[in-house]
Amino acid sequence: MGRMNRRIVAPLLAWYDRNARVLPWRSEPTPYRVWLSEIMLQQTRVEAVKPYFERFTGTLPDIASLARADEQTLMKLWEGLGYYNRARNLQKAAQLVMEEYGGEMPDDYESLLQLPGIGPYTAGAVASIAFGEAVPAVDGNVLRVAARLEASEENVSRPEVKKRISENIADIIPKERAGDFNQALMELGAVVCLPNGAPKCGECPLRQLCEGFARDIAGLLPVKDEKAARKIEKRTVFLLRQVWLNDPTADRVSVSKSREDRIAVSKRGQSGLLAGLWEFPNTQGHLNRKQAKEYLEEIGIKVGTIEKLFTAKHIFTHREWHMIAYLVDVAGDGGLVWEPWRVIRESYALPSAFAAYTKFLDSLMER
Ligand code: SF4
Repeated sequence: MGRMNRRIVAPLLAWYDRNARVLPWRSEPTPYRVWLSEIMLQQTRVEAVKPYFERFTGTLPDIASLARADEQTLMKLWEGLGYYNRARNLQKAAQLVMEEYGGEMPDDYESLLQLPGIGPYTAGAVASIAFGEAVPAVDGNVLRVAARLEASEENVSRPEVKKRISENIADIIPKERAGDFNQALMELGAVVCLPNGAPKCGECPLRQLCEGFARDIAGLLPVKDEKAARKIEKRTVFLLRQVWLNDPTADRVSVSKSREDRIAVSKRGQSGLLAGLWEFPNTQGHLNRKQAKEYLEEIGIKVGTIEKLFTAKHIFTHREWHMIAYLVDVAGDGGLVWEPWRVIRESYALPSAFAAYTKFLDSLMER
């Protein structure tokens, strides 16, 4: 097993110069834009991130506007990207940058590492891409490329292996093009040295220097920990609707408000999965119609009609929700937040775990 050496630098950069994808954050790599894109890209594909990035920077164009954004706006901009703590940490870090650095992002790896939500990878990416500091930025793509180049059978999930690869990159990273070099390694992993046993070695600028290719074992690498099996949770979701004609307060409120059907949402707790986001009321288990009615009445909802809907599944990193749902026409408010559906769609962040039922209500309420 060899170590990566400086010979990869020139062909890799030459390849990157010809093949780098045009991405919105690359065309204008300000510290804020690089940082934001790196956080968005942590769990999400490039193509999916692009429209989120444009929308986010359109509404919150700089660190100051991010620092003072209200929670609902921030969550709405992040809606569908998942891992919402990333957005909360972004804002905490922006507030810290306003308070402690006069609104300017700190320009070195060690200071960046102190900010909330910024780990060694993101600190390395921002320091090298936005500020040209010669530090590594090692993500899953880079670990895979490194293990294959070296024909290394070390387990890349182990911190000491990651550390060793980072140190190796720190030794060879070119000072004058540190950001490009890190991006080139990641880009090679994203478009050529693909995961799941599918490297496109025929298109690779490093083929002549790659031990994994020479020994024909690249597709078997890297070695990493098996993923833990996901836990399956059954849930029953309630799409509770107040039809305006059934609304007992209809004659007391303005006509324009009372003439819209309203849907109930409730806010999740401030910690745990999907913390602080909005949801359709739901409970553990798959309840039959009778149980569903009893459950709702127990929590103070007066059930009118109740109709069983389709099932849906949502996959999180460590768990899966298997959902059934009921559409329920209700009298009274049961202590929930009721809003016209168009208002919920415009202003409330509903996680994509509920996407199947969100789409259903989109079409139901259009009719
Ligand atoms: Fe990856 Fe193949 Fe290139 Fe080696 S030759 S770095 S395995 S794509």
